[in-house]
Amino acid sequence: MHAVVIGGGIVGVATAHALAEREVAVTLLERDALGTGSTARSAGGIRTQFSTPVNVRLSLASLPVWETFEERFDVDIGFHQHGYLFLARTDATAARFEEAVGMQRGLGVDVELLSPAEAAAICPGLRADRFVAATYNPRDGYADPNLAVQGFAAAARERGAELRTGVAVRDLHLEGGRIVGVETTEGRIDADMVINAAGAWAGHVVDPAGRSLPIAPRRRQIAVVKPGRGIPADLPLTIDMDAGSYFRPEGEDTALVGGHAASEDPDVDPDAYPTSMNFEEAVGALERAADYTTYFDGDTRLVRGWAGLYAVTPDRHPIIEETAPGLYTVAGFSGHGFQHAPAAARCIAEIALDGEAAIEGVESLSSDRFEDEDGPVEQNVA
Ligand SMILES: Cc1cc2nc3c(=O)[nH]c(=O)nc-3n(C[C@H](O)[C@H](O)[C@H](O)COP(=O)(O)OP(=O)(O)OC[C@H]3O[C@@H](n4cnc5c(N)ncnc54)[C@H](O)[C@@H]3O)c2cc1C
Repeated sequence: MHAVVIGGGIVGVATAHALAEREVAVTLLERDALGTGSTARSAGGIRTQFSTPVNVRLSLASLPVWETFEERFDVDIGFHQHGYLFLARTDATAARFEEAVGMQRGLGVDVELLSPAEAAAICPGLRADRFVAATYNPRDGYADPNLAVQGFAAAARERGAELRTGVAVRDLHLEGGRIVGVETTEGRIDADMVINAAGAWAGHVVDPAGRSLPIAPRRRQIAVVKPGRGIPADLPLTIDMDAGSYFRPEGEDTALVGGHAASEDPDVDPDAYPTSMNFEEAVGALERAADYTTYFDGDTRLVRGWAGLYAVTPDRHPIIEETAPGLYTVAGFSGHGFQHAPAAARCIAEIALDGEAAIEGVESLSSDRFEDEDGPVEQNVA
């Protein structure tokens, strides 16, 4: 059995590893270097606090892998389990939080609903008067996506997978209604199965099979800042849901500030969008973060920043499915594909080899769900 995996981001390398673990011969094709797509531009957040059960289940299946990554892969990914703190400014958002916490706890997540004062005890610089409620899970956190890519890649290679960089897939070969290989910049490669893990580019890859997947590339930015008042290194990743703003410490006395103004969010050309920091946007993000904490008061400095792509589906859930005979898709993770990569990789390997994924609810992530406009939408996105 030979599988071609298209894309060498975290999802592609984790998929190569999951297939190689099941004794499939794998060729992964990455047109650039491993992990240089959205993965390199991520904030590295890992959390269980999602608003839909299937996303929570993907988190719960991924978390043990992140927690034991060094043991499994011999790479320390710097998993800082300082929690995620979600903040609500409005009663409507607080009501949504309460419902989500009930669901998350029902699935075994040790998450708490907090008052603003309790939230300020965890994040001392918080301007608690801005908020009406918060949720917190101390087991959430953040890690280094690039190191995680290296860990999965080395383990996949050890199990015989061939990871080829600088090779782009240009077309899919179809015979008798089945995908039987790919055409690349270095010629044809035949395969029993082709896995599309091309992230924000995945919608383009699938066209030759006669299907188009609704995966929209959306630009998102992160600024690295030196807070005027310093910032404790053990703060949680803190999200103001109603303002669309988040920040987290990055080592000593530095922070990452992200989020975007929701008013305008066009699709971009994934091959020609500005990857460098837009200064005005970064100032806007910093002002939003300064509105609800004291850390960014005073002489806060913007150090640098970058932009990357979210791969956004209409309901902000990934597509994990057999898209056509012989062609599988694992893409469209919006802003949470780093953290869900271990579970998603396992799921797509199970779908390809066993016909279905073991994690409950994953069958709902096939792309035919978009025919029904009333399906659940993930709300906890920044
Ligand atoms: C600013 C920002 C912050 C984020 N923060 C978080 C976070 O805190 N937590 C979290 O979980 N997620 C976060 N994300 C989302 C996360 O980065 C992505 O969901 C995840 O990296 C997706 O991984 P991937 O492997 O699917 O895609 P990618 O990393 O983009 O990999 C896809 C790869 O496919 C390759 N490719 C494309 N077309 C072809 C082709 N034709 N042939 C060969 N190769 C091809 C590309 O070069 C690319 O390397 C963030 C994203 C951004 C932009």
